[in-house]
Parts: sequence; structure tokens; C-alpha cells
Amino acid sequence: MAKHRSQKGTLFVISGPSGTGKGTVCKELLKENDLKLSISMTTRQPREGEQNGRDYFFVTREEFEKNIAEGNLLEYADVFGNLYGTPKDAVVRQLERGRNVLLEIDVQGALKVKEAMNEAVLVFLLPPSMKVLQERLSGRGTDSEEVIQRRFREALNEIRLLGEYDYYVVNDDLEEAVADVAAVVRAESRRVPGK
Ligand code: 5GP
Repeated sequence: MAKHRSQKGTLFVISGPSGTGKGTVCKELLKENDLKLSISMTTRQPREGEQNGRDYFFVTREEFEKNIAEGNLLEYADVFGNLYGTPKDAVVRQLERGRNVLLEIDVQGALKVKEAMNEAVLVFLLPPSMKVLQERLSGRGTDSEEVIQRRFREALNEIRLLGEYDYYVVNDDLEEAVADVAAVVRAESRRVPGK
């Protein structure tokens, strides 16, 4: 999907409630599509197998707050007690080079991106049903019942914000969900500039 040199890239934001499979969908999407994934900054501890600079930039709360104060983040949010944010410069640089950029972030962050950059394309990933979402959240096996219920309530609140998004994709079958997002990316890449 080559672009004319002078054409800027498009910023795609995939978000949705915890348990909808954003991470898996994005991982698959990146295999086949000309998208550059933005690496977020976070104050949470690395999980086993995660690498600094590949999965996240793992920083202390002080470092994160310094980045906020210096205006280095396009958006940031507190997600279940940890701070997460999108480094602005890297995103802007890629877009200016004509590359499409993908952000995989939470719903609060996605809405802040839309406020800052109205041309960003927001895709909301939905579970096939609330029952399935509850099962997925419980099925992780790592969280307490209280945490599962909190995430579920939060998911209900987030789904109410669907109207702020440009597209929605239902993640029932992974392959179909990835194909749907890829279709959005392809169509948006063919948008007449300025429309
Ligand atoms: P996890 O800790 O499981 O990697 O991510 C927790 C949540 O934080 C996920 O919903 C993920 O999409 C979100 N997240 C990751 N990076 C960012 C970011 O840069 N900004 C915001 N707002 N959310 C993020």
C-alpha cells in the first residue's frame, strides 16, 4: 500500500474493553499489513518474556510524570492503577514519513487521541456478547473475582462510548476480526486526501 511521497500516513487506534482480544488482533494484523506499531510507555512491571523497548518502555512513575510535564505524550491514562502513554514524537515522525501507525490503547486514551488528532481512525473491538466477555475475563485465571467484576463493569461503561468511534469490529472469530480491521486500514489508505 505505497503512498505518494508527500502524503502523510494514517493513525489507526484499536481499543476496546479489557478481554476483547486487542493484543492478539493487533499482533495478527501487523503480520500482513503495512503498519508501524507505536511502543507505549508504562509504569507497570514487565511480565515474564517482555522486553524494554519492544513491548513497552518500562519507566518509573517519576520518569513518566516528567514525560507528561514535558509534553512528550500524545495521550496517557491510568489503567487499573498503572500509567500508560503514547510517545508523541515517534508517532508524528512516522506519520510524516507516510507510514501508517497503529496504537493499541485503552478507551480513555483513544478518545484523547481523537481530541488531539481528529483525523485519527478509531476502531472499537467488541466481544461477541457480554456473556462471552465475562467468560474471557474469568478464563484468564490470574485475577480475583473482585478484579474480574471491576473489569466487567468498566467494560460496560466503555461500550457506551462506542458512538465516539469511527468503526467497530466484533471479535468472535479471530481471523474474521483481523480481516475486518485490515479492510478498514485498506479503505482508509485509499481515502482522497482532505476528505
Ligand atoms: P497491559 O498491561 O495488559 O499490557 O495493558 C493494559 C491496558 O493498557 C490495555 O487495555 C492496553 O490497550 C492499554 N494500553 C497500552 N498502552 C497504552 C497507552 O499508551 N495508552 C493507553 N491509554 N492505554 C494503553
